Amino acid sequence: NLGSQSAAFAALSFPSLSLFGYAYTITPFHGEMSLLSTATLLLLSSAALWSTANHGVVRAILSPYIGGQIARFQFATGCIFAFFLGYLVVKSIASIQYSGVVGAYAVAVCWLIIILVTISAALFERSDKIRRRMENQLANSARTDPLTGLMNRRAFNEVLKYEAGRTNRYGTKAVLILMDIDHFKGVNDTYGHPAGDEVLKTIAATIRDNIRDTDSACRFGGEEFAILLSDTSPEGGLTVSHALRKVIEETDIVPLPEQSIKVTASFGLTQLAENRIEDALIRADKALYQSKERGRNRVSVHVLATPR
Ligand code: GH3
Ligand code: MG
Ligand code: MG
Repeated sequence: NLGSQSAAFAALSFPSLSLFGYAYTITPFHGEMSLLSTATLLLLSSAALWSTANHGVVRAILSPYIGGQIARFQFATGCIFAFFLGYLVVKSIASIQYSGVVGAYAVAVCWLIIILVTISAALFERSDKIRRRMENQLANSARTDPLTGLMNRRAFNEVLKYEAGRTNRYGTKAVLILMDIDHFKGVNDTYGHPAGDEVLKTIAATIRDNIRDTDSACRFGGEEFAILLSDTSPEGGLTVSHALRKVIEETDIVPLPEQSIKVTASFGLTQLAENRIEDALIRADKALYQSKERGRNRVSVHVLATPR
Protein backbone atom coordinates (compact mmCIF):
# COMPACT_ATOMS: atom_id res chain seq x y z
CA ASN A 1 0.00 0.00 0.00
CA LEU A 2 2.73 2.40 0.99
CA GLY A 3 4.58 1.66 -2.27
CA SER A 4 1.57 2.22 -4.49
CA GLN A 5 0.57 5.31 -2.56
CA SER A 6 4.07 6.79 -2.85
CA ALA A 7 4.02 6.09 -6.60
CA ALA A 8 0.59 7.69 -6.89
CA PHE A 9 1.76 10.75 -4.95
CA ALA A 10 4.81 11.02 -7.25
CA ALA A 11 2.56 10.65 -10.30
CA LEU A 12 0.32 13.39 -8.92
CA SER A 13 3.29 15.74 -8.61
CA PHE A 14 3.91 15.89 -12.39
CA PRO A 15 0.47 17.04 -13.58
CA SER A 16 0.24 19.42 -10.62
CA LEU A 17 3.58 20.94 -11.63
CA SER A 18 2.22 21.25 -15.14
CA LEU A 19 -0.96 22.85 -13.75
CA PHE A 20 1.21 25.40 -11.95
CA GLY A 21 2.90 26.09 -15.25
CA TYR A 22 -0.42 26.81 -16.94
CA ALA A 23 -1.73 28.90 -14.05
CA TYR A 24 1.46 30.94 -13.65
CA THR A 25 2.17 30.92 -17.41
CA ILE A 26 5.60 29.39 -16.89
CA THR A 27 6.09 27.37 -20.05
CA PRO A 28 8.99 25.15 -18.87
CA PHE A 29 6.74 23.81 -16.05
CA HIS A 30 4.32 22.16 -18.45
CA GLY A 31 6.56 21.81 -21.48
CA GLU A 32 4.84 19.78 -24.18
CA MET A 33 2.10 18.51 -21.86
CA SER A 34 -1.31 19.76 -22.97
CA LEU A 35 -3.93 20.94 -20.48
CA LEU A 36 -5.99 17.90 -21.44
CA SER A 37 -3.13 15.52 -20.58
CA THR A 38 -2.58 17.44 -17.35
CA ALA A 39 -6.22 17.04 -16.34
CA THR A 40 -6.24 13.37 -17.36
CA LEU A 41 -3.09 12.62 -15.36
CA LEU A 42 -4.47 14.50 -12.35
CA LEU A 43 -7.62 12.39 -12.48
CA LEU A 44 -5.70 9.15 -12.97
CA SER A 45 -3.28 9.70 -10.10
CA SER A 46 -6.13 10.87 -7.85
CA ALA A 47 -8.05 7.71 -8.79
CA ALA A 48 -5.01 5.59 -7.92
CA LEU A 49 -4.87 7.25 -4.50
CA TRP A 50 -8.63 6.92 -4.07
CA SER A 51 -8.51 3.20 -4.78
CA THR A 52 -6.31 2.73 -1.69
CA ALA A 53 -8.49 5.03 0.43
CA ASN A 54 -8.96 2.30 3.03
CA HIS A 55 -5.26 1.82 3.63
CA GLY A 56 -2.07 3.47 4.84
CA VAL A 57 -1.50 7.19 4.75
CA VAL A 58 -4.50 7.92 2.52
CA ARG A 59 -6.71 6.33 5.14
CA ALA A 60 -5.04 8.54 7.78
CA ILE A 61 -5.78 11.64 5.68
CA LEU A 62 -9.39 10.64 5.03
CA SER A 63 -9.99 9.42 8.58
CA PRO A 64 -13.11 10.93 10.21
CA TYR A 65 -11.16 11.34 13.44
CA ILE A 66 -9.15 14.31 14.62
CA GLY A 67 -5.94 13.42 12.69
CA GLY A 68 -7.75 13.30 9.35
CA GLN A 69 -9.73 16.45 10.10
CA ILE A 70 -6.56 18.39 10.87
CA ALA A 71 -4.75 16.95 7.83
CA ARG A 72 -7.55 17.93 5.41
CA PHE A 73 -7.73 21.42 6.88
CA GLN A 74 -3.95 21.81 6.61
CA PHE A 75 -3.96 20.55 3.02
CA ALA A 76 -6.70 22.91 1.98
CA THR A 77 -5.41 26.02 3.70
CA GLY A 78 -1.67 25.33 3.27
CA CYS A 79 -1.74 24.48 -0.44
CA ILE A 80 -4.35 27.03 -1.48
CA PHE A 81 -2.48 29.74 0.40
CA ALA A 82 0.90 28.84 -1.16
CA PHE A 83 -0.66 28.51 -4.62
CA PHE A 84 -2.44 31.88 -4.58
CA LEU A 85 0.36 33.75 -2.88
CA GLY A 86 2.73 32.45 -5.56
CA TYR A 87 0.18 33.37 -8.23
CA LEU A 88 -0.13 36.94 -6.93
CA VAL A 89 3.63 37.35 -6.73
CA VAL A 90 4.16 36.01 -10.25
CA LYS A 91 1.36 38.12 -11.74
CA SER A 92 2.03 41.39 -9.95
CA ILE A 93 5.59 41.65 -8.71
CA ALA A 94 7.93 39.14 -10.32
CA SER A 95 9.41 40.10 -13.63
CA ILE A 96 9.29 37.55 -16.46
CA GLN A 97 12.84 36.60 -15.55
CA TYR A 98 11.99 35.63 -11.96
CA SER A 99 8.53 34.15 -12.42
CA GLY A 100 10.04 30.67 -12.87
CA VAL A 101 11.89 30.96 -9.55
CA VAL A 102 8.77 32.14 -7.71
CA GLY A 103 6.73 29.36 -9.36
CA ALA A 104 9.28 26.72 -8.40
CA TYR A 105 9.28 28.07 -4.86
CA ALA A 106 5.46 27.89 -4.64
CA VAL A 107 5.49 24.33 -6.00
CA ALA A 108 8.19 23.33 -3.50
CA VAL A 109 6.22 24.85 -0.61
CA CYS A 110 3.03 23.04 -1.67
CA TRP A 111 4.80 19.70 -1.89
CA LEU A 112 6.60 20.21 1.38
CA ILE A 113 3.22 20.88 2.99
CA ILE A 114 1.73 17.77 1.37
CA ILE A 115 4.59 15.53 2.51
CA LEU A 116 4.72 16.92 6.06
CA VAL A 117 0.96 16.82 6.53
CA THR A 118 0.80 13.26 5.19
CA ILE A 119 3.52 12.03 7.55
CA SER A 120 2.00 13.79 10.56
CA ALA A 121 -1.49 12.50 9.67
CA ALA A 122 -0.16 8.93 9.54
CA LEU A 123 1.63 9.29 12.89
CA PHE A 124 -1.37 11.03 14.47
CA GLU A 125 -3.75 8.34 13.25
CA ARG A 126 -1.53 5.59 14.63
CA SER A 127 -1.50 7.00 18.16
CA ASP A 128 -5.13 8.10 17.99
CA LYS A 129 -6.13 4.57 17.01
CA ILE A 130 -4.54 3.24 20.21
CA ARG A 131 -6.31 5.93 22.22
CA ARG A 132 -9.66 5.05 20.62
CA ARG A 133 -9.17 1.36 21.33
CA MET A 134 -8.35 2.05 24.99
CA GLU A 135 -11.31 4.40 25.26
CA ASN A 136 -13.57 1.64 23.90
CA GLN A 137 -12.16 -0.83 26.40
CA LEU A 138 -12.78 1.66 29.19
CA ALA A 139 -16.33 2.32 28.01
CA ASN A 140 -16.94 -1.43 27.80
CA SER A 141 -15.59 -2.11 31.27
CA ALA A 142 -17.78 0.69 32.64
CA ARG A 143 -20.79 -1.23 31.29
CA THR A 144 -19.72 -4.76 32.21
CA ASP A 145 -19.78 -6.79 35.39
CA PRO A 146 -16.19 -8.01 35.81
CA LEU A 147 -17.06 -11.39 37.35
CA THR A 148 -19.69 -12.64 34.92
CA GLY A 149 -19.05 -10.50 31.83
CA LEU A 150 -22.74 -9.62 31.72
CA MET A 151 -23.94 -6.02 31.55
CA ASN A 152 -23.89 -4.18 34.83
CA ARG A 153 -26.93 -2.44 36.24
CA ARG A 154 -26.09 0.95 34.77
CA ALA A 155 -25.83 -0.41 31.21
CA PHE A 156 -28.96 -2.50 31.69
CA ASN A 157 -30.92 0.55 32.85
CA GLU A 158 -30.05 2.27 29.59
CA VAL A 159 -31.21 -0.71 27.56
CA LEU A 160 -34.36 -0.88 29.65
CA LYS A 161 -35.13 2.80 29.06
CA TYR A 162 -34.57 2.41 25.33
CA GLU A 163 -36.80 -0.67 25.17
CA ALA A 164 -39.51 1.02 27.28
CA GLY A 165 -39.50 3.90 24.81
CA ARG A 166 -39.83 1.45 21.95
CA THR A 167 -42.78 -0.39 23.53
CA ASN A 168 -44.53 2.94 24.06
CA ARG A 169 -43.87 4.35 20.63
CA TYR A 170 -44.35 1.27 18.48
CA GLY A 171 -46.55 -0.88 20.72
CA THR A 172 -43.98 -3.68 20.78
CA LYS A 173 -43.95 -6.13 23.67
CA ALA A 174 -41.09 -6.80 26.02
CA VAL A 175 -40.65 -8.88 29.14
CA LEU A 176 -38.57 -8.11 32.22
CA ILE A 177 -37.40 -11.00 34.39
CA LEU A 178 -35.68 -10.77 37.77
CA MET A 179 -33.94 -13.93 38.89
CA ASP A 180 -32.38 -14.71 42.24
CA ILE A 181 -30.34 -17.79 43.13
CA ASP A 182 -31.92 -19.72 46.00
CA HIS A 183 -30.07 -20.14 49.30
CA PHE A 184 -26.89 -18.80 47.76
CA LYS A 185 -25.51 -17.86 51.13
CA GLY A 186 -25.52 -21.58 51.91
CA VAL A 187 -23.38 -22.25 48.80
CA ASN A 188 -20.79 -19.74 49.99
CA ASP A 189 -20.89 -21.14 53.53
CA THR A 190 -20.53 -24.77 52.39
CA TYR A 191 -18.11 -24.50 49.47
CA GLY A 192 -16.40 -21.17 50.02
CA HIS A 193 -16.57 -17.81 48.29
CA PRO A 194 -14.44 -18.76 45.22
CA ALA A 195 -16.78 -21.67 44.51
CA GLY A 196 -19.71 -19.25 44.90
CA ASP A 197 -18.08 -17.02 42.29
CA GLU A 198 -17.82 -19.99 39.92
CA VAL A 199 -21.51 -20.65 40.42
CA LEU A 200 -22.31 -17.05 39.50
CA LYS A 201 -20.18 -17.32 36.36
CA THR A 202 -21.83 -20.56 35.29
CA ILE A 203 -25.32 -19.18 35.88
CA ALA A 204 -24.44 -16.09 33.85
CA ALA A 205 -23.21 -18.28 30.98
CA THR A 206 -26.36 -20.40 31.22
CA ILE A 207 -28.54 -17.30 30.96
CA ARG A 208 -26.55 -16.05 27.97
CA ASP A 209 -26.87 -19.42 26.23
CA ASN A 210 -30.62 -19.57 26.72
CA ILE A 211 -31.71 -16.16 25.48
CA ARG A 212 -31.62 -14.63 22.03
CA ASP A 213 -28.92 -12.26 20.79
CA THR A 214 -31.48 -9.46 20.77
CA ASP A 215 -32.26 -10.01 24.47
CA SER A 216 -30.21 -8.50 27.29
CA ALA A 217 -28.98 -9.97 30.54
CA CYS A 218 -27.41 -8.21 33.48
CA ARG A 219 -25.98 -8.96 36.88
CA PHE A 220 -28.43 -6.94 38.88
CA GLY A 221 -26.89 -7.43 42.30
CA GLY A 222 -24.87 -10.03 44.25
CA GLU A 223 -26.68 -13.23 43.16
CA GLU A 224 -29.53 -11.55 41.36
CA PHE A 225 -29.85 -11.29 37.58
CA ALA A 226 -32.17 -9.31 35.31
CA ILE A 227 -33.18 -10.31 31.81
CA LEU A 228 -34.94 -8.26 29.18
CA LEU A 229 -36.66 -10.14 26.37
CA SER A 230 -37.35 -7.87 23.41
CA ASP A 231 -40.40 -8.33 21.20
CA THR A 232 -41.73 -11.01 23.53
CA SER A 233 -45.19 -11.50 25.03
CA PRO A 234 -45.66 -12.45 28.72
CA GLU A 235 -46.53 -15.98 27.53
CA GLY A 236 -43.24 -16.18 25.63
CA GLY A 237 -41.41 -14.81 28.67
CA LEU A 238 -43.00 -17.52 30.80
CA THR A 239 -41.74 -20.21 28.43
CA VAL A 240 -38.20 -18.79 28.52
CA SER A 241 -38.25 -18.50 32.33
CA HIS A 242 -39.47 -22.06 32.82
CA ALA A 243 -36.86 -23.40 30.42
CA LEU A 244 -34.10 -21.44 32.15
CA ARG A 245 -35.29 -22.52 35.57
CA LYS A 246 -35.12 -26.14 34.47
CA VAL A 247 -31.66 -25.84 32.88
CA ILE A 248 -30.27 -24.21 36.05
CA GLU A 249 -31.83 -26.90 38.22
CA GLU A 250 -30.21 -29.62 36.11
CA THR A 251 -26.77 -28.03 35.72
CA ASP A 252 -23.88 -29.56 37.64
CA ILE A 253 -21.45 -26.83 38.58
CA VAL A 254 -17.94 -28.14 39.18
CA PRO A 255 -15.64 -25.40 40.54
CA LEU A 256 -13.05 -28.01 41.63
CA PRO A 257 -12.77 -31.68 40.59
CA GLU A 258 -14.13 -33.00 43.88
CA GLN A 259 -16.91 -30.41 44.10
CA SER A 260 -20.28 -30.66 42.44
CA ILE A 261 -22.80 -27.95 43.19
CA LYS A 262 -26.41 -27.76 42.19
CA VAL A 263 -28.44 -24.62 42.66
CA THR A 264 -31.94 -23.48 41.84
CA ALA A 265 -33.27 -20.02 41.10
CA SER A 266 -36.51 -18.13 41.57
CA PHE A 267 -38.00 -15.94 38.88
CA GLY A 268 -40.25 -12.88 38.82
CA LEU A 269 -41.69 -11.84 35.49
CA THR A 270 -43.56 -8.81 34.23
CA GLN A 271 -44.16 -6.99 30.97
CA LEU A 272 -42.54 -3.69 30.08
CA ALA A 273 -45.51 -1.55 29.26
CA GLU A 274 -44.87 2.00 30.34
CA ASN A 275 -42.19 4.63 30.34
CA ARG A 276 -41.48 4.29 34.05
CA ILE A 277 -39.13 1.36 34.18
CA GLU A 278 -39.06 1.67 37.97
CA ASP A 279 -42.68 0.41 38.05
CA ALA A 280 -41.78 -2.62 35.95
CA LEU A 281 -38.84 -3.36 38.25
CA ILE A 282 -41.11 -3.13 41.31
CA ARG A 283 -43.61 -5.55 39.70
CA ALA A 284 -40.88 -8.01 38.74
CA ASP A 285 -39.46 -7.80 42.26
CA LYS A 286 -42.89 -8.49 43.78
CA ALA A 287 -43.27 -11.52 41.50
CA LEU A 288 -39.80 -12.73 42.52
CA TYR A 289 -40.70 -12.32 46.17
CA GLN A 290 -43.81 -14.39 45.50
CA SER A 291 -41.67 -17.17 44.01
CA LYS A 292 -39.53 -17.17 47.15
CA GLU A 293 -42.63 -17.22 49.35
CA ARG A 294 -44.14 -20.10 47.41
CA GLY A 295 -41.08 -22.25 48.07
CA ARG A 296 -38.37 -21.07 45.59
CA ASN A 297 -37.25 -22.69 42.30
CA ARG A 298 -40.31 -21.40 40.50
CA VAL A 299 -41.61 -18.66 38.24
CA SER A 300 -44.19 -16.05 39.23
CA VAL A 301 -45.84 -13.46 37.07
CA HIS A 302 -47.05 -9.97 37.88
CA VAL A 303 -48.52 -8.44 34.76
CA LEU A 304 -50.58 -5.29 34.42
CA ALA A 305 -54.32 -5.83 34.18
CA THR A 306 -54.55 -4.31 30.70
CA PRO A 307 -51.39 -5.11 28.84
CA ARG A 308 -50.85 -3.19 25.61
P1 GH3 B 1 -32.69 -16.61 49.04
O1 GH3 B 1 -33.07 -17.97 48.56
O2 GH3 B 1 -33.72 -16.01 49.92
O3 GH3 B 1 -32.36 -15.71 47.92
O4 GH3 B 1 -31.40 -16.79 49.95
P2 GH3 B 1 -29.95 -16.34 49.61
O5 GH3 B 1 -29.01 -17.00 50.57
O6 GH3 B 1 -29.65 -16.57 48.17
O7 GH3 B 1 -30.02 -14.77 49.79
P3 GH3 B 1 -29.22 -13.79 50.69
O8 GH3 B 1 -29.61 -12.42 50.23
O9 GH3 B 1 -29.44 -14.09 52.15
O10 GH3 B 1 -27.71 -14.05 50.39
C1 GH3 B 1 -27.12 -13.67 49.21
C2 GH3 B 1 -25.68 -14.11 49.26
O11 GH3 B 1 -25.00 -13.84 48.04
C3 GH3 B 1 -24.92 -13.43 50.35
C4 GH3 B 1 -23.62 -12.98 49.68
O12 GH3 B 1 -22.50 -13.35 50.40
C5 GH3 B 1 -23.65 -13.71 48.37
N1 GH3 B 1 -22.96 -12.95 47.33
C6 GH3 B 1 -23.26 -11.73 46.84
N2 GH3 B 1 -22.37 -11.36 45.89
C7 GH3 B 1 -21.48 -12.38 45.78
C8 GH3 B 1 -20.33 -12.58 44.96
O13 GH3 B 1 -19.93 -11.76 44.12
N3 GH3 B 1 -19.65 -13.75 45.10
C9 GH3 B 1 -20.05 -14.69 45.99
N4 GH3 B 1 -19.35 -15.81 46.07
N5 GH3 B 1 -21.12 -14.51 46.76
C10 GH3 B 1 -21.84 -13.38 46.68
MG1 MG C 1 -30.73 -15.51 46.69
MG1 MG D 1 -30.71 -11.84 46.61
